Amino acid sequence: MKTALVHSEAYQRFDYGPSHPLRMERLGLTYALMDAYGLTGLPETRVIPPQPTPPEVLRGFHTPDYLDVLRAASAGVAVPGAQRYGLGPGDNPIWPGMYEASALACGGSIAAADLVAAGEVTRAFAFAGGLHHAMPDRASGFCYLNDAVLAIRALRARGLRVCYVDIDAHHGDGVQDAFYQEAEVLTISTHERGDHLFPGTGFADEIGEGAGRGYSVNLPLHPYTDDAVYLEAFAAVVPPIVRAFRPDVVVSQLGIDSHRTDPLTHLALSVEGFAEAVRQIVGLAPRLVALGGGGYDLANVARAWTAAWALMNDVTLPAELPAPFLAGATRHLHGRTRLWDGAALLPAEVVGAAREYAQRQVREIERLIFPILGVH
Ligand SMILES: [Zn+2]
Repeated sequence: MKTALVHSEAYQRFDYGPSHPLRMERLGLTYALMDAYGLTGLPETRVIPPQPTPPEVLRGFHTPDYLDVLRAASAGVAVPGAQRYGLGPGDNPIWPGMYEASALACGGSIAAADLVAAGEVTRAFAFAGGLHHAMPDRASGFCYLNDAVLAIRALRARGLRVCYVDIDAHHGDGVQDAFYQEAEVLTISTHERGDHLFPGTGFADEIGEGAGRGYSVNLPLHPYTDDAVYLEAFAAVVPPIVRAFRPDVVVSQLGIDSHRTDPLTHLALSVEGFAEAVRQIVGLAPRLVALGGGGYDLANVARAWTAAWALMNDVTLPAELPAPFLAGATRHLHGRTRLWDGAALLPAEVVGAAREYAQRQVREIERLIFPILGVH
């Protein structure tokens, strides 16, 4: 089983600013943990650096206007009306090099897609990608350019059927919108319910339009959804739908802001629960392009994506984090020394409310989607 990991030290040069929750050092920390576990030098694995995506490829999804504004603002030019493109103080600040950083992350995801499409590797992981909120003409939710859409387009250009599975705590709205009317790309997103969390969409009745009707699947979840509740709902929906669709390639956004210590969301998964979902996605994917995504507790990002990369390489990791990593990452770990978390202890009524909500969503998906896709 050949695999590829996309990584560049260049990601570290970029910075959203000191008060922004998306810390670029999360990528270096993740790579350091993969490396400490020996996962960057496996015999069947190659580590490849990304190349920036050229503007003509970005125009496959983004409007020329928006790309011009993004590039000018990134170069320090004051652009009147930048707010109309989602740029400015708040979620999508203007910072030097944001265009280059975003184009590099896109290049990583497209490189992963190209390697998988060409049959050079079976599974590839571009963990700087997964910026699923970016829209054709505006930045949204910390995302300037939508690498996931562009990676899927690269696969579609080779005639491949793509299933997109997004397990970030936020709805994968930019990707859903991009393929909402297409039957050759099936999108599935599991996330905290949109009436509680950004971006406010992703309800079970958003099922696609026209030829794409039945090819957008949304599993919204109640706050404090834990591993058990999540995995029950996931198992009821994701494997049967993926099997019925029979994709050539699965593209998966592996945001870990679903974790119970994440500062921005209210789901209650552990690294174990996340890893079990990833294990199932890997098992369902004839070929896999895995992307990163959200995750604002840096120790979770490093642990979860290292666990995911180990699964993609069929490697079992020791639970104790390697000593050299512990020594170098102390300030991010807050006392944690293990890859896994242990069970959450939530009150029974809290878990019951989350389970009741999840089961209702599963029934909606069974009613709305299963007949169209022929799921039995
Ligand atoms: Zn997110």
